[in-house]
Amino acid sequence: MPARWTAPRKLALLSLFVGMANVPDWPLPFWGHHRYDISHSIIANALLVGLAIAGMLFWRRGRDHMGGAAVVVFAGVTWLSHILLDSLYNHSRGVAAFWPISGAHLNLALPWFETLPQGGPFAQSAGRVFSIEAAFFGSLILLSVAARWALLKNRGRSKHP
Ligand SMILES: [Zn+2]
Repeated sequence: MPARWTAPRKLALLSLFVGMANVPDWPLPFWGHHRYDISHSIIANALLVGLAIAGMLFWRRGRDHMGGAAVVVFAGVTWLSHILLDSLYNHSRGVAAFWPISGAHLNLALPWFETLPQGGPFAQSAGRVFSIEAAFFGSLILLSVAARWALLKNRGRSKHP
């Protein structure tokens, strides 16, 4: 993310990344949970991400407005991360990530990741489900920030012995 950007612009970009990470769940025709086989296929998503990245890389104004080629590629990575993260749910069904080539399911279930009940008491379990995800992924974010901070601190030391 460009360091010169203002905080609101960085927040807007982070919101875009969150939106991109949820593209496979978007309720579109022939997409989302109605066509889980297509919308959660790494092959279908990689094709769409490749097209989107190629389009953004050729559309200079859009790419520059977004922060450059690295930011565009990272947005694509956040989109594809959805497939991996959905494979972590503990229902053990995994994700049919290889449609249409294979019916194999990617299943990397972690016991603490639950899905929200469909048509059930949403409010009762939603808080717990979201809290567990926030704690797990928030810890990863804090770890990344700490690692970056330590790296930049060490880099500063090496420049000024
Ligand atoms: Zn999903």
